[in-house]
Amino acid sequence: MESIDITIIGGGVTGLASALYLTEKYPDKTIMLVEKNAFLGEEQSGRNSGIRHSSIQYKPGSLKAKFCVEGNRLITEFCKKYDVPYADTGKLTVATTLEDIAKLDFYYERAVKNGAPGVRKLTKGEIKEFEPNIEGLAAVYTPSTGIVDGATYIKTMKNLLGNTDAIVFDHTKVLDVKPQEDGFVVKVDQAGEVYEFKSEIVVNAAGLFADELTRMVNPEFPYKIKPLRGEFMKFNKNKRPELFMKGMPVYKIPQPIPGGMLDEHGEPKTTSGTHFTPCFDFDASGKIVISNFVHVGPFQVPINNKSDYESNRAPPEAFVKDLKILLPGLRVEDLEQEFTGIQTKIEGYDDWILERDKKYRNLVTAIIDSPGFTASQAVGKEISELVDQIYAEKLELASAQK
Ligand SMILES: Cc1cc2nc3c(=O)[nH]c(=O)nc-3n(C[C@H](O)[C@H](O)[C@H](O)COP(=O)(O)OP(=O)(O)OC[C@H]3O[C@@H](n4cnc5c(N)ncnc54)[C@H](O)[C@@H]3O)c2cc1C
Repeated sequence: MESIDITIIGGGVTGLASALYLTEKYPDKTIMLVEKNAFLGEEQSGRNSGIRHSSIQYKPGSLKAKFCVEGNRLITEFCKKYDVPYADTGKLTVATTLEDIAKLDFYYERAVKNGAPGVRKLTKGEIKEFEPNIEGLAAVYTPSTGIVDGATYIKTMKNLLGNTDAIVFDHTKVLDVKPQEDGFVVKVDQAGEVYEFKSEIVVNAAGLFADELTRMVNPEFPYKIKPLRGEFMKFNKNKRPELFMKGMPVYKIPQPIPGGMLDEHGEPKTTSGTHFTPCFDFDASGKIVISNFVHVGPFQVPINNKSDYESNRAPPEAFVKDLKILLPGLRVEDLEQEFTGIQTKIEGYDDWILERDKKYRNLVTAIIDSPGFTASQAVGKEISELVDQIYAEKLELASAQK
């Protein structure tokens, strides 16, 4: 049976970024990334808002807060180095009700505690200086928020990986992973043919399916992913003057997740909810530019099936009802349907899973919901450090046995 040193399951931004860090650190190891779909990044990584978050929403001390701030810096460096389109837009988080005003202070403090740079509070009048058509009572401005062209980001990582000795297989679905002494046996279906190989280390970056894969190794793995669909629409900001936006993501205050979901303390888990996001487009010459269209979403719909991207999509009326308080000029007929994405939400837990398995220590599991796009380089780096630990322990054991 063939033997691989490190197998990475999943070709989203988490798998790709960890593969890049690992190939750089371990050029002599055989590193393989397997992806079940025809293209890399087809699931969460290619179906999101593309926002480079600042860390206003996440609990101080959480993995999300820590890696968001570091990831924001690292993804910006990556975009500069490899010419990936990005824009420093800043972001407004807007209070639209009296109740929201107290919450706004809470999120302002959070952003400051999390180390988001340059955060400040805005008055009603100052909101208008940033976005004249946005209505609100007060806001928090986070200048380090921006947008990144996700498709180019993924393509760039794939190309960089292509310049290394790493093996990348698409159309390759992991069917089973079984622990054995000193590693795992991995069973894959590659375009209809089933193969097995040994892998000393497995990095599980399988997104929505990562909980099921880790449970194949360790049935005691406790976390369960509940999918939450995020639906997008768009409108042309130049269609009427009251729709014009200068070019900044605009959010309401975080709200409880639709359908209800609790964290580990029994408190409702929150989400940033439906928002406005500038996006990229191609101009007539094929150059990537900021689009005339503004994305509206993700409008969140609880679902039971992790692959249900389309059934019972919310009508434009639901989007307008949700957001008219922020942009009163928005009408149902302005909205055009766009893509959807499905987010990994962990029932009863409000952070990422980014750890070596408690029992099978050569397995690294990464269950990374938002801000996982922002944080991808920082998460990739962390995964490579967890792999460093595995090799360091192996060396220690070998020298102790001598
Ligand atoms: C609607 C939406 C909006 C979001 N907005 C933002 C945002 O603005 N900013 C931000 O920072 N984050 C955002 N996120 C979160 C971000 O997209 C994710 O955190 C990030 O993409 C997770 O990447 P990943 O590689 O871990 O997972 P994924 O991108 O889901 O990749 C996992 C990969 O594993 C593959 N896979 C699964 N099972 C198997 C198997 N058995 N065998 C082989 N391959 C397998 C899948 O096909 C997939 O390609 C958003 C997410 C969604 C859905």
